[in-house]
Amino acid sequence: MNIPQNPRAEIQQLIQQGDLEGLLVKAGELHGHFCPYLALGVKAAYTALKRLGIEQSTGMEEIVAIVETNNCFSDGIQMVTGCTFANNALIYHDLGKTAVTVARRDGAGIRIVLKDEWRDAFNTRHPEAYALFKKIVVDREEATPAEQERLMQVWTESSFDQLGLPEEEIFDVKPVEIEVPPFAPIFASVRCSICGESLMETRARVKDGKPVCITCAGAEHYVLDGSGISIRR
Ligand SMILES: [Zn+2]
Ligand SMILES: [Zn+2]
Repeated sequence: MNIPQNPRAEIQQLIQQGDLEGLLVKAGELHGHFCPYLALGVKAAYTALKRLGIEQSTGMEEIVAIVETNNCFSDGIQMVTGCTFANNALIYHDLGKTAVTVARRDGAGIRIVLKDEWRDAFNTRHPEAYALFKKIVVDREEATPAEQERLMQVWTESSFDQLGLPEEEIFDVKPVEIEVPPFAPIFASVRCSICGESLMETRARVKDGKPVCITCAGAEHYVLDGSGISIRR
């Protein structure tokens, strides 16, 4: 096997070539389907990287992406910037805005926000996609297999259509200076005295003088799901 030295060589090349369609295809591999917000995430990430003069990222936090939504948009951001949930270069603020700030470690960044006018413009441009999305996804109405299939089809078409729209029609783009958080620390592990599973020391609780995991302690913790971040037990 030929082991690649740069796992993101293909994405890097697509960024260099300004191949937004190719980047959306790659983002679809991660996201599982093509949708307009994924395309917007791809376009926003590309725009930010271009403005910052960045063409590659190694996922070692040399750039960070701060996303303000956990909708489809953020998968476009992850794939194109290489800043992901697990390499700690993706920072999530639970604000519910289709917005991202991409920044270099020195704090120089670009904030991009989806314009409010985008939604109406999209619905006018893609009435069938809008109508099917509303019926099947928003209102959760019964849909025929043909309608389901048609939704995915028009959704895909409308996604690729977003890539060609002028940036100023879609986004507010402005340079920002931000304080980039320190590199993610590496924490020691401890073993839960009840279930025996290992966990980060900072997440351990103490019961009868011994370390236990949050699950065994029945303690509160943060959960990120489709509704955003909440506290659960
Ligand atoms: Zn999606
Ligand atoms: Zn445990």
